[in-house]
Amino acid sequence: MSLALAAPDDLLLRQAVIETCLKMNALGINQGSSGNVSARCDGGFLITPSGLAYEAMRPDQIVFMDLEGGYRGDFLPSSEWRMHHDLYRARPEAGAVIHTHSTHATALSCLRQDIPPFHYMIAVAGGSTLRCADYALFGTQELSQAMMAALEDRQACLLGNHGMICCAPGLDKALWLAGEIEALCHQYVIARQMEDPVILTEAQMDAVLARFQTYGKQADELSLEALAKLGMPIAR
Ligand code: 13P
Ligand code: ZN
Repeated sequence: MSLALAAPDDLLLRQAVIETCLKMNALGINQGSSGNVSARCDGGFLITPSGLAYEAMRPDQIVFMDLEGGYRGDFLPSSEWRMHHDLYRARPEAGAVIHTHSTHATALSCLRQDIPPFHYMIAVAGGSTLRCADYALFGTQELSQAMMAALEDRQACLLGNHGMICCAPGLDKALWLAGEIEALCHQYVIARQMEDPVILTEAQMDAVLARFQTYGKQADELSLEALAKLGMPIAR
């Protein structure tokens, strides 16, 4: 596809997808040319091409896909386009999807177990556990189905004997979430090596999840009642 035909904001989004890939490498949460990144755009989404190293990736190599499984571009879309495609179809709030083989998340995915609430930040995945999807061959609809089941009421999950995937309203938030999931997995591996960690109770996690409704919001986005409930100091 000629970039001369691309709208200016389309070019910016293509660049943002590549920048996100490069940031994943800089953060050390990606492994070689594995992993893939996409962002929703008009009529579908833009996704990294299959098997290409991020360092040399150009905006015109990013592939456009519609929500009916068609693509436009000179390169084949990521072999995992089905997971991205199914998430954008099922989740209107999803603006970006990141799949990586980050080391600790991938190591834990090979145990094929849900990660329990050993730390309150497990709530970033959207609930009181970080689920692990059943194993399925990479690039298949079966893998996407296993992912969709593990992502029920969640924004992130492990993929059995494979890695992790997450979605968020935009690329920055998705990158942040991917980093949080890898950090949590690293912490869980360390804690488990020392002893069996104490797992938070359902009531403790309910309280965390309730707080996450307002966490990160600023005073002008919250009611006085919500601020009082959080025990925030009074603005003078
Ligand atoms: P692609 O290079 O096709 O995106 O595949 C990488 C990957 O992680 C497969 O699961
Ligand atoms: Zn993968």
